[in-house]
Amino acid sequence: MLFVIIIDYIRNPHLKLMSTRCFASMLICALINLVLDIGTVYTITHPDIVPDALNRLMHQLFIASVILLMFFIYLYVKILARNQIRLKKLEWVMACIPLVISAVFIIFGKLDYYRSYNAAYSYGPMVYTVFVCAFLYLVAIFAAFFGKKAMFTKYQRISIQVGIVIWICGLVVQMKFPPLLLSGICFSLLVLCVYFSFENQRENFDSEAECFNRAAFSRQLSEYYEGQKQLFLVNIAVENYERISSLTGHAASTDVILKIRDIAASVVKKPLFHSRTNIISFFETAEISSQMLDELTAAFENASIHDIAIKCRIIVMDLKKYTSNTDEVHELISFMRSYCKNAENTVCCLDEEIVSKKLRHDKIARLVGDAVENDGFEMVYQPIYNTETESYKSAEALIRIKSIDELGFVSPEEFIPIAEEQGLIMEIGDCVLSMVCEFAHRERLSEKGLSYIEINLSGIQALSPNINERIRKITERYNISPSFINLEITETASLDSGDVFLENIHKLKSSGFSFSMDDFGTGYSNLAQMNRMHYDLVKIDKSLLWDAFGEKNDDTAKNLLYSVICMIKSMGAEIVAEGVETKDMADYLAENKVEYLQGYYFSKPVKEDEFLKIITANS
Ligand code: C2E
Ligand code: CA
Ligand code: CA
Repeated sequence: MLFVIIIDYIRNPHLKLMSTRCFASMLICALINLVLDIGTVYTITHPDIVPDALNRLMHQLFIASVILLMFFIYLYVKILARNQIRLKKLEWVMACIPLVISAVFIIFGKLDYYRSYNAAYSYGPMVYTVFVCAFLYLVAIFAAFFGKKAMFTKYQRISIQVGIVIWICGLVVQMKFPPLLLSGICFSLLVLCVYFSFENQRENFDSEAECFNRAAFSRQLSEYYEGQKQLFLVNIAVENYERISSLTGHAASTDVILKIRDIAASVVKKPLFHSRTNIISFFETAEISSQMLDELTAAFENASIHDIAIKCRIIVMDLKKYTSNTDEVHELISFMRSYCKNAENTVCCLDEEIVSKKLRHDKIARLVGDAVENDGFEMVYQPIYNTETESYKSAEALIRIKSIDELGFVSPEEFIPIAEEQGLIMEIGDCVLSMVCEFAHRERLSEKGLSYIEINLSGIQALSPNINERIRKITERYNISPSFINLEITETASLDSGDVFLENIHKLKSSGFSFSMDDFGTGYSNLAQMNRMHYDLVKIDKSLLWDAFGEKNDDTAKNLLYSVICMIKSMGAEIVAEGVETKDMADYLAENKVEYLQGYYFSKPVKEDEFLKIITANS
């Protein structure tokens, strides 16, 4: 059994971890222990041909292998329980005490033998001391394991427990029936259990990408982070990964990773990790040379798959300079990935500026979290002008954070994506709808000439399976008719959504809610889908309008705006033009029969009381 494990272990590539080295020592000790166990049986039963000194030496080695084995198991469990964090000096000293005592007794202690039936056994202070020390390790192993049980996965816990039970049973049986010599075989079983649960190096390996996997990455990071003075992480991210997969299918996206792994391996001779879907990483424990980065950049310059260019970004992070623990490292990796997406250079190095951006991001995340817990949001309303009735018939509700702290005004454009990351957007969505409905109910807005209020729906909300019930529950609570609520979905959100999205929209539509496509002209318009969705309103993004009326007085942009207006009309939807800032814009749009105008020319988004004044003056 041990041979099979050892051969399998050697065959697979392994991580450079303390626990892995410890396990290798365990394997070697176990093998030596087994060989000596059998050897001593021979020497002790053949005193006629084996000299006394050799017999004693064999026993000494055998007993030494027992205590070393216990020592390594203890270290191993301790390291795992601490997630690869190294032992402190005092812990090392404590861990070594039983080993040192044993060593003294093994070298100088008295050893006797006795015979019974046709077998022979050793006893005496050397044996007893070592057994006591081994027992101490056993207790320490239990304490380390059960004290930090949460560190292990369920599967690992079960295998360790099974292993320990087998081992203890073996020891008990052996004490009762010494000739059985069970302890060796039981120990091999224990190693087997550990091997399958922790040390099967295939578990660290991503066979598709043919390099180490994400779990291995975290383990290696923990260990390096503790042990190294300098630590750099280099991520090679494929930025157009999703695009390539959607163009060429799953098999090709695996090929992309293989390809960048190969290219990276040809430049750097380090273990590579497939640490995230589209990222291959490696660690560097010394300053990174610009020559290496140049080589990497050059190597990735012309990478392609099926003639599609692979767009790679090389992200370099000085971990010891900018982070203080591994959790921060993981957070920074995510942040850097989105931050560097639109960077000009292929190589993106973590610097003070990025760190301060991340700090702002984290502060906003906290601000949003606090606001969710403490009713910290309020709504403002931007009236929307109807060019046919020449009055305000609708409005867009926009969210604001009430408290202004050192960050100043934070636009929803900035905090909504962060709320989405934090998993808070559903709660915020409910809160927005409740505030709007409460306002509409309290002020009887529909009686004041308002036909509906537009509310922004995040892409995540639109994909939630129970969004219909959620929204209806709120409108019913305030006795608001669904026809009073118009839900805005951005063009981009509607693009990468599938069946759930369409189903949700249809359910909400049949409940009576109407829909707008927001920010039209900013995504890649899927006109067929737009036609299927039957939007009641299409909101032309401000950029289209601003380009047409920009300083350059661009005719093409004006023609484009005109064509877009005609096209939306031909689809049977009404149009809202956003970002109307000047009289020129308003006149042009009204001439071209754009039904609704929204922008600072009419009004900025305003608080409830001011909004009420605007619509009352209007009716
Ligand atoms: P949006 O839906 O495109 O909202 C229009 C944004 O344009 C608003 O910014 C509004 O203040 C601004 N705006 C309107 N007219 C003009 C104009 O004439 N000139 C200029 N320069 N800007 C104008 P705001 O309120 O900062 O909202 C930004 C984005 O945040 C919104 O873009 C929307 O995507 C999102 N958002 C706002 N409120 C909510 C909400 O309650 N839920 C969700 N999910 N997203 C929201
Ligand atoms: Ca909107
Ligand atoms: Ca918009």
